[in-house]
Order: sequence, then structure tokens, then C-alpha cells
Amino acid sequence: MFRNLIILAAIVLIVMIVRNRLRTQIPPIKTGDKQVESVRCAQCKQFLPKTSAVSQGERYFCSADHLKTWQDSQSG
Ligand SMILES: [Zn+2]
Repeated sequence: MFRNLIILAAIVLIVMIVRNRLRTQIPPIKTGDKQVESVRCAQCKQFLPKTSAVSQGERYFCSADHLKTWQDSQSG
């Protein structure tokens, strides 16, 4: 009787572990493929789609002009 309880507990534990694994394997639901990640211009703080942003390392700019302005402000 006691042994049966242990076996039952073990089975429940295994089922829980397997369920957890299955849950983590499910990819996150995509919220629309057309949604473009937006980034912020480090110079004018304006949000713009990442696809049209100018990137410099980890920073993004709305235009090459603002990239240059930001670089100038950093150096001096
Ligand atoms: Zn800008």
C-alpha cells in the first residue's frame, strides 16, 4: 500500500516534469509577422522602425545626420 503511494507520487512527478518540458518547447505566439521592431534615435529620441534606422553599435539613429551630430556631441 505504502509502496503504491510512492509509485503513484513518482508517476505524478514524472508527468509534471514532462508537462513542463512540453510547455517550454512550444514556441511563443507571434504577434503578427508584419510588426517591425521600433528603435529610438539616440539623438532626437524619436521612435522609428528598426528597418529604416541607422545603427551605430548598440545605438540607433533616425538619420545619418543625427548619427554624426551624436558622434560630435560625444567627442566634444
Ligand atoms: Zn534623430
